[in-house]
Amino acid sequence: MTSFFNGLPATDASALTGFAGNRIDREAEHRTAESVAAARSHRDARVYLFRGDKALLRGGDPLFTVAEADALGAGTSGASAGGDSAVLLGYADGAPRFAALLPDNTAIDESRITLTDLRSLAIAAEISPTHLGALAQARSLTLWNARNRFCANCGTATTMVSGGYRRDCPTCGAQHFPRTDPVVIMLAIDEAGDRALLGRSARFNPGMYSCLAGFVEHGETIEDAVRRETAEESGIRIGRVRYHASQPWPFPASLMIGCHGEALSLDITRDESELEDCRWFSRGEVRQMLAGTHAEKITTPMKMAIAHHIIRAWADSR
Ligand SMILES: [Zn+2]
Repeated sequence: MTSFFNGLPATDASALTGFAGNRIDREAEHRTAESVAAARSHRDARVYLFRGDKALLRGGDPLFTVAEADALGAGTSGASAGGDSAVLLGYADGAPRFAALLPDNTAIDESRITLTDLRSLAIAAEISPTHLGALAQARSLTLWNARNRFCANCGTATTMVSGGYRRDCPTCGAQHFPRTDPVVIMLAIDEAGDRALLGRSARFNPGMYSCLAGFVEHGETIEDAVRRETAEESGIRIGRVRYHASQPWPFPASLMIGCHGEALSLDITRDESELEDCRWFSRGEVRQMLAGTHAEKITTPMKMAIAHHIIRAWADSR
């Protein structure tokens, strides 16, 4: 029988990217006051902890017991001294998983506990993809709560509800929900399919070229955002757009949406404020870049980044 999905790979291309391994069961339809309270007193509850933008790990393990977390000020079993409680991410094999952002001045015994940012954890690939994905959810949600303590409508202090998946205003009644910021990241390919457009920002590591990218704006489709951002940064006109994969990007709460775009023009007009270089690369050159054998030591982003997989999907496509 022919399926509508024939020709698609059995595994999501997204699963190859960093932060994509989250397996927490969110049980979003059961985020009631009763179930959140029961989770807070569950004996197998565990907590992911951050101080600033860094996750706490003890011997490579990012999970802490409720007693350990609350001794540091996480507020898992109730409100912390700072006011808010730990957020409820969901459940792993029935055991609640919480997350908390500790105050910046929290004293941590760094002879026992290491502090590492999520980008470094993703690159090192020393913790499991499951923990890395859960930490991405944890970072985005704890930061959203920390930055939304006051109602955007009237300025009153808001209250955390639904385990941190909503904040309510007691004065005007507004309900505030966590936001995810969509970003398009795309590879323009010439009409013959032989060359791809890559750029480099001044903040990249030396020699690295990557896909162009930018935020989706209000009232815009993904395809239109791909066309607009490519035109703004490179002057290249894009016609057809094909979705490839997505990646949670917890810096602080983005979803990268990876696409390939068919270039209808070739002459580059670079946005000098965004890019220090932008050019066409042949498929052979890009294969060398992916393999780390390019004569000029030009490289692509590493495997944890969705850009790597967008580029590789084209380079390996024939
Ligand atoms: Zn309000």
